[in-house]
Amino acid sequence: MSLVVAKFGGTSVADYQAMNRCADIVLGNPATRLVVVSASSGVTNLLVELSQADMGDERRLKLLKEIATIQYAILDKLGRPADVAAALDALLSRMATLSARLLQAPSHAMVDEILSLGEQCSSALFAAVLRERGAKASAFDVRQVMRTDSHFGKAEPQIAELKRLATEKLQPLLEQQLLVTQGFIGADADGRTTTLGRGGSDYSAALLAEALEADAVEIWTDVEGIYTTDPRLAPNARPIAEISFNEAAEMATFGAKVLHPATILPAVRQQIQVFVGSSRAPEKGGTWIRHQVEDEPVFRAVAVRRDQTLLNLHSLQMLHAQGFLAETFAVLARHKISVDLITTSEVNVSLTLDKTGSDSAGKGLLTEALLQELSQNCRVRVEDKLALVAIIGNKIATTAGICRRVFEVLEPHNVRMICQGASPHNLCVLVSEAEAGDVVAALHRNLFEGAQDAA
Ligand code: ASP
Ligand code: MG
Repeated sequence: MSLVVAKFGGTSVADYQAMNRCADIVLGNPATRLVVVSASSGVTNLLVELSQADMGDERRLKLLKEIATIQYAILDKLGRPADVAAALDALLSRMATLSARLLQAPSHAMVDEILSLGEQCSSALFAAVLRERGAKASAFDVRQVMRTDSHFGKAEPQIAELKRLATEKLQPLLEQQLLVTQGFIGADADGRTTTLGRGGSDYSAALLAEALEADAVEIWTDVEGIYTTDPRLAPNARPIAEISFNEAAEMATFGAKVLHPATILPAVRQQIQVFVGSSRAPEKGGTWIRHQVEDEPVFRAVAVRRDQTLLNLHSLQMLHAQGFLAETFAVLARHKISVDLITTSEVNVSLTLDKTGSDSAGKGLLTEALLQELSQNCRVRVEDKLALVAIIGNKIATTAGICRRVFEVLEPHNVRMICQGASPHNLCVLVSEAEAGDVVAALHRNLFEGAQDAA
């Protein structure tokens, strides 16, 4: 029997009406048997605020009320069926208790417990919407199967354990009914609640699809798939019907943050096709991400990643020496930092830090402790307010004439760093945040709107 996992993002489950549009999608495809939801739009942000330990009681109560208002608005439209009303009341009262306790004794574990409540509320409500529409559906607590390590705020899923637990506890239930489960959250081996980092629900859906050997995972959001670039930056941006895993992986954070970058990993491992579309306008189609695609153009998309930090490391010790990079990377790894781009000269190394999926509480990556440790080996300079512009495509490193078309656009801009050659699928430039929009628009015009590209 074929199995599709459908994931709905925060705006897709924002209110009763939005949830009903999602129900249309789920019930329209009999293969869709597992639904993964984000918290209703805005709720995770409110929970992040609620888990700030230095907040006054007045603010805390106001936040609790705001969250309750969003969730009860959905419940009230459902006509308050007793089972889900009791479940929602229990979740909201747990939110109140935990947030009060957090003021006394804050802990990372408790923060994750609080953050997880958004998805717990939305999954209970969405299962009730599906039942109201006549489906046999229940909410399923994903913590029974989504086993992670204990790195609260950005926990690592444990793939083998997840597969074992999903086969044992989830698979048999799926044969009997539709299940609605939570994205973003998991539990460690001791049963403590963890979260996968902001935006982690897409990743959850792909992980569950992998564990269940599903045929496809659908990511329903508020944009109609992946575009050649962010349409807000270039109004002539076009939707992409089909894109390969390799290109998609290189896009890291896609243009308009369509998909959490880690989503692609489980899909590639298990060769599961991924669909991205809008739950508001499913008839408009979307983008399929597949192992093999028909068309492999040189230029596929221009993506931008803002809020980039560049670390410049300078040391004469690097001159004809070995091991400097190994040591630097060991320090970064100890601080759980993933490096994005890197360029080197004889006595300098420049690198940008991968900020995607920074932890659930949104804390910065560059801590004093890290800078101090790095400074023991070299002089460290930090530059921020930068943006990374990536040109994504195929055979970029082996097609003549690409640099000319890119660099003529960049002429008026200061390019802080260029990375090309490592991947056949991308060419990246680092520019100031302020210029990024213009650079993207100009690149799109030159690479996608020129006479030879007009499809
Ligand atoms: N609700 C979580 C967040 O807002 C996870 C997600 O939506 O993917 O980050
Ligand atoms: Mg999201």
